[in-house]
Amino acid sequence: MNEKDKNTSLIGNLTLFFGIFLLFTDVFFLIMGIVYDMPLMRYVIYVKLVLNTSNIFLILKKHYLVSTVIIYSVILLFMIVGVICIGTVGEFQLFALGMLVCISYNGYLHNRILKKELPLAFIIALHVLGYIGVYIYARTTEPLYAIPESGENIFIIFNSLASFVIVIIYVCMFHNVAIRSEEKLEETAMIDNLTGLYNRHYLLASLEQTGQTSPQDRWLALLDIDDFKTVNDTYGHLCGDSVLRKVAELVKQSCQDCIACRWGGEEFIILSAKNKCSTDILETLRQKIADEEFCCNNTTFKITVTIGAAGYDSELTNDSWISRADEKLYFGKTNGKNQVVL
Ligand code: GH3
Ligand code: MG
Ligand code: MG
Repeated sequence: MNEKDKNTSLIGNLTLFFGIFLLFTDVFFLIMGIVYDMPLMRYVIYVKLVLNTSNIFLILKKHYLVSTVIIYSVILLFMIVGVICIGTVGEFQLFALGMLVCISYNGYLHNRILKKELPLAFIIALHVLGYIGVYIYARTTEPLYAIPESGENIFIIFNSLASFVIVIIYVCMFHNVAIRSEEKLEETAMIDNLTGLYNRHYLLASLEQTGQTSPQDRWLALLDIDDFKTVNDTYGHLCGDSVLRKVAELVKQSCQDCIACRWGGEEFIILSAKNKCSTDILETLRQKIADEEFCCNNTTFKITVTIGAAGYDSELTNDSWISRADEKLYFGKTNGKNQVVL
């Protein structure tokens, strides 16, 4: 399942959760309407039951936008009915507040995933007005029904719990969305999208960090594919890309404790910040790449690489450390290629 399908099914599941949650509250309010003899509440629940049940079918038919609007309207209207029946003591007005997070989250999901705009400002304004309106109404008008204190307490507990559950669920989801998108952003900023290795930006940041923490006997190697232009010219750019991916895989496998990065074009940098990583692995890597058979357009061919490595020296800045490795690489290139120069 790709990211878009996953998110669309999240919208479906959320809307379905809300639809079922409303049906569950209907049953509770119906029981309360019967126990405390509140005909208005009962009649409204009958209508609400029909609406909420048909809404489940709408959700199953994937009409998420319509059902979301129905859900908001039903909750808002029922909040008004609840206050008309027993006043603000039952805490029905909390639903209007609780819905604000849920409205903004649904607005976000519709916008990002379904590319549809919910009239957010209008819906939020309606809920705020509903909240203030019921308070003013309750201060000027007596409730329709007088129910015992125990009944009021049950309403307070149920309505508060329901509203808080809604808020908590949606705040947690918002939190997850924020964390996930930050992680994704960080990842795209650090990873080279052709090879999946770290990019130049990440390597430079790592060099800054390792400069403060790691041991003095670390090393850095610059690897460049020999005559890569010929690979592109002979087999095409796409084939060149697949060679880059394979070389990247071998570079990554060569040293688990190193930071492997695509420095640019067909050049890679391996940074070892741990003393147990000896430069011997570079010769093994060179040999492994030379032995690898690449296949493009039904033709197999081999490639070689030249590697220049430089140990760390406290006199060196990060730039001059890389330049030193580059000088070794250049030496290897001008002296027959396919070698490791230490
Ligand atoms: P040398 O042995 O001296 O390194 O020769 P070379 O041909 O490898 O070096 P040169 O710098 O002349 O060519 C590098 C080539 O790498 C040129 C460019 O088209 C190719 N290249 C750079 N980035 C990519 C890429 O992302 N994909 C592909 N397919 N080719 C790339
Ligand atoms: Mg090059
Ligand atoms: Mg090259």
